[in-house]
Amino acid sequence: MKFGSSGIRGVVNTEITSESALCIGRAVGSEYHDVVVGRDPRTSSEMIECAVVSGLLSVGCQITRVGMVATPTLAYAARSHNCGVMITASHNPPEYAGVKLFNPDGMAFDSGQQESIEQSLEWSVGGAHSKLTPLSSWDCINPVRTDKNAVFDHISMILSHTRIENPMSVVVDCGCGAASMTTPYLLRELGCDVITLNSQPDGFFPGRSSEPKEEHLKVLRSVVQEVHADIGIAHDGDADRMVAVDDRGRFVSNDKLLAFFGMREAERSMVVPVDTSMLIDAVLPGVTITRTRVGDVYVAEAIKRTLADFGGEASGTWIFPKVSYCPDGIYAAARLIEMISTEEGRFSDHISALPTYEIKRGALPMPHRGGAGDGGVMGMIEEELRTVTGFTDINTLDGVRIALDDAWALVRPSGTEPLIRITVEGKTKAVVDRLYLHIEKIIKEL
Ligand code: MG
Repeated sequence: MKFGSSGIRGVVNTEITSESALCIGRAVGSEYHDVVVGRDPRTSSEMIECAVVSGLLSVGCQITRVGMVATPTLAYAARSHNCGVMITASHNPPEYAGVKLFNPDGMAFDSGQQESIEQSLEWSVGGAHSKLTPLSSWDCINPVRTDKNAVFDHISMILSHTRIENPMSVVVDCGCGAASMTTPYLLRELGCDVITLNSQPDGFFPGRSSEPKEEHLKVLRSVVQEVHADIGIAHDGDADRMVAVDDRGRFVSNDKLLAFFGMREAERSMVVPVDTSMLIDAVLPGVTITRTRVGDVYVAEAIKRTLADFGGEASGTWIFPKVSYCPDGIYAAARLIEMISTEEGRFSDHISALPTYEIKRGALPMPHRGGAGDGGVMGMIEEELRTVTGFTDINTLDGVRIALDDAWALVRPSGTEPLIRITVEGKTKAVVDRLYLHIEKIIKEL
């Protein structure tokens, strides 16, 4: 079992079972002695939670259970413990289960912490029990504590940071995920007029896919239009993400939402992954932009390291370090509504005022992925890309990203398939097409 960029995930009872969850609990409990545990509304989450809790208890860990909560709620609850364990597969289809681990400051486990847990899991699976932390004696097994206030505490924290000046009408689509427990209540407490869609927790996700993509949000868009709401909000299954629909019922591209937040949050510095739109550079000329590997945990790490004001990823994850290093879709919703309520003009006017760029994404087969030639191919691609006309800058943190005067391109091996992915963005379609074809030719020839 390995951690991906968002924890351990897999199909339940095939890739993730009660047995493996027990091993995860034992591994985490060997290193962290005071752990808070929460879960999302998936059909499998309670089963996985029970196994994880059992594993934690078996090595003498002190456990607090907070029940069904959003991931940012659990990450906030972790502040009074050594570690937070969230049972969630985020926005994946309903048959998936997952486990994500958090530090007390809300940051997901970094690669060093993940490797340490993976080592214990390898010993468990490989039968090297002598290397594992010994099981507790009967008189050192702790009772399980329950904390019923985690949602209330998270809502209170957000209320203390947010003020809505003018009454706002909001349509919220929680996708039957964990946000159903939190966002509608929070927004009503803030004085908003709230209409809810899919806001009853249901592990079958009957209303829509738990991934809040534009194509899954047709109902939200039409209800916003129909009731003349000021804004629509949608979450993914565990509510670390948030996306928006403007007052005209148009899905706001996450690149534009990132720019909108950045223009209001980032006074000096901001962190984004390497695949982020050039829109950020265009609208934030005096702000230092740090680019990281793709994945919200890398963004969070860089925010902490550089003391940045804000960071985010166009998947819909927004990190406000003043409240948490965990992407918090619930706080982000409240903060976005606060911004709109205090500014002149409609949300749609602010979004329409942002420049739009052409973007093209594609992929080519990379048959030798994982072999010794891997680094060689990327190295050769890097050499070739440095010679592209108009070249101004290169970044090799995650694949190869080149910047030109009027465009940028990212060539990156897929993390999950034998493909090499190409992203090109530029000011005009002609520029993008020309650069895309040129890069495609370079890769094919190599
Ligand atoms: Mg999520």
